[in-house]
Amino acid sequence: MKPIRLKQTYELLQSYKLFENPNVIISDPTPASKEDLLTFHSHDYINAIEVFNDGNWSQNASNFNLGPGDNPVYKKIFDASRLSTGGSIVAAKMIESGKVNRAFNISGGLHHAMPNYAYGFCVFNDPVIAINQFLQKGLKVAYIDIDCHHGDGVQLAFYDTDAVLTISIHESGQYLFPGTGWVEELGTGKGKGYSVNLPLHPYSSAEIIVWAFKQTVLQLINKYNPDILVTQLGIDSHFNDPITHLNQTAQGFESILKEFAKLPYPWLAMGGGGYDAMAVARCWSIAFSVMSEQTISNKIPVDYFDKYGVDNLYDIQIPNIDSDYEASTKSYAENSVREIHKLIFPTFGIR
Ligand SMILES: [Zn+2]
Repeated sequence: MKPIRLKQTYELLQSYKLFENPNVIISDPTPASKEDLLTFHSHDYINAIEVFNDGNWSQNASNFNLGPGDNPVYKKIFDASRLSTGGSIVAAKMIESGKVNRAFNISGGLHHAMPNYAYGFCVFNDPVIAINQFLQKGLKVAYIDIDCHHGDGVQLAFYDTDAVLTISIHESGQYLFPGTGWVEELGTGKGKGYSVNLPLHPYSSAEIIVWAFKQTVLQLINKYNPDILVTQLGIDSHFNDPITHLNQTAQGFESILKEFAKLPYPWLAMGGGGYDAMAVARCWSIAFSVMSEQTISNKIPVDYFDKYGVDNLYDIQIPNIDSDYEASTKSYAENSVREIHKLIFPTFGIR
């Protein structure tokens, strides 16, 4: 999660000259206000993060799941977290005001942060806080999370409302943090049927991931017919990722992005996980090119190649999976899709 991966993404976008298009605006983030943060997080938690801004942590930090491990306290933790959250708020406001119809905050997508504690490298939950901006205007939001991990914090925030449809596609919680994200977690009360989870087996191929997406997500978004599309584009699903086990490719990621781009809704995208820095830079450059309707060539520009040694935007060598194993990843995906059809689709009157 070191910010260098964002810098390397930004540099690749610059090398491809994707910012030079007259339709592209680069906006500086402004720090999220306490008022914004309070739309999801508790007063005590926000104040604690502010106290830890000097980098010192006490026994108290463990009350907020901070300290050694996934969620270290570091100098300027409050400033940095407010800024990355603020990026998603600026993006949401630009969309809501009609200034732009698509926006991408690569530093956002911190979907695990909980109301009272940090979780899974996430301090403040910018997807929830940005979605709250839209809800305050009475808008209806579809949130699609394609990070390898379950989007648990966002699901929790909107579990009992039909004003937000949350859909998370991820490696099964049986094998990966945070251990949740089962099809049966489908929402409560008014929100019943509006929380959708599509778990996949480790080593599921790009083909299977895209197939499962097309069997479920598109129908649900179309029926829900939101005012705004919000996507979390974590690319820790990539086969090179060191901490997860799905076998997504840059090509598979692009085909999902192209499906989002066909939808008629204003679109706010955020980054998320991704721990192979070059996979992050390549895939989020692809995302940006799709969102801004610019073509991008497979050949990485020479200045970037000279610096980082990566020569192709798309994946050339894709891992081979034993055919028996592949069959079991397929039947796992088919089962998840079937369960969604059975448990969720009737809510939307599909089929
Ligand atoms: Zn992740």
